Amino acid sequence: MAEELGEFALIERFFSALGARRSDVRVGVGDDGAVLTPPTGQELVAVTDTLVEGRHFPPGSPAASVGHRALAVNLSDIAAMGARPAWALLALTLPRANALWLREFARGFQLLAQDSGVALVGGDTTAGPLCITVSVLGFVAVGQALRRSGAQPGDILFVSGTLGDAARGLQHELAQGGIADGEALATDRSRAAALRQRCLYPSPRLSLGVALSDLASACIDISDGLAADAGKMAAASGCGALIDADSLPLSLALRADVGDQTAIELALTGGDDYELCFAVPPGRLDVLKRKLPMAQHGYQCIGELCAERGVRVRQAGQFIELNRAGFDHFR
Ligand code: ADP
Ligand code: MG
Repeated sequence: MAEELGEFALIERFFSALGARRSDVRVGVGDDGAVLTPPTGQELVAVTDTLVEGRHFPPGSPAASVGHRALAVNLSDIAAMGARPAWALLALTLPRANALWLREFARGFQLLAQDSGVALVGGDTTAGPLCITVSVLGFVAVGQALRRSGAQPGDILFVSGTLGDAARGLQHELAQGGIADGEALATDRSRAAALRQRCLYPSPRLSLGVALSDLASACIDISDGLAADAGKMAAASGCGALIDADSLPLSLALRADVGDQTAIELALTGGDDYELCFAVPPGRLDVLKRKLPMAQHGYQCIGELCAERGVRVRQAGQFIELNRAGFDHFR
């Protein structure tokens, strides 16, 4: 039988010393609240995100992936604000205190927290359906936070990494777990593994976000699909977006797996990419390319902002229809 732990033993064992050790944590896990020392001259950026089993990740997902993703989706928001992450809080609702599951969950959280310099400073632990809420606090120089608003018609639109991999990876994950049609999707196994990796272990673009804070006019992270999120950024900026489908960054694995046209659709509407979509005024392109060489930092120009509202996608000189404008929880 799996080892079951009491609430306090569980917190002590798995969550009392997670993440980076930081000198700005005066009181961490163990008291009624954490006491933290923000740096002078910086603003705090606060984000939070919840993952619900069955909604944000398939039931039975690897625990390490759940721990990683719960933190990663928050770090992606911090990156989109151009901020540096520092402290995290973890509210964990668990059906049972299974030590094996918790150890793997904590390991997934720990690796990413260490890597990004984040200390876990508190949280809450309750029994119930599996649900994880993480909050992250970070810093940015006063007035330097990137916003969704701030772009103007004529600004150039960029995106980091490659898009659509995570959405296809999720399809493989569901098929592999027998959750979709119960059949593995016809594909090359190492290719499927690479795509599943993008879904299970997204990489928040923290250093790119910080580097963009004095270059981009607006920024958003892509969680609901490029079309939806570029649309949100454009709307917040009071303009529209024109996306060139032939310029979308697609991985070789995705193209080989689903073909070019489906790859484009997944890139536009798939979601869970956790890449950054950002706008740069034409006058700053030289500085951008000098300071952040495109090849080195892995981002690509995919279109531009325009005065006409909404998102339009152009392919081979023609506008194409978007079937699903990203993912919306209440639709
Ligand atoms: P309280 O009853 O005062 O809310 P708890 O008994 O819930 O405190 O928690 C005790 C300590 O453990 C607190 O410092 C809290 O922040 C921390 N904590 C509880 N659950 C977690 C968790 N999942 N991850 C990190 N810290 C946690
Ligand atoms: Mg208390």
